[in-house]
Amino acid sequence: MRVWVDQELCTGDGLCVQYAPEVFEFDIDGLAYVKDPDGELLTEPGAQVSVPPELRLPVIDAAKECPGECIFHSESAKPS
Ligand code: SF4
Repeated sequence: MRVWVDQELCTGDGLCVQYAPEVFEFDIDGLAYVKDPDGELLTEPGAQVSVPPELRLPVIDAAKECPGECIFHSESAKPS
């Protein structure tokens, strides 16, 4: 599964960071971005990462609860 955030819609409340700190983190702009498996924050808007199996549920929960409805996940690459 792949996941990405649309920073245009992010409210910066941090719910995703609480659910899955291994995957989501704030940048200095106060918006959430995804991290790669090495923990490096991908600051390009809409950047995608693969989600390890053990983090699928917290990531799906974060996407469900995200107030900005701006966490997207897909079993395949993001359509262009
Ligand atoms: S839960 Fe959604 S709106 Fe809140 S910080 Fe994360 S991506 Fe942004």
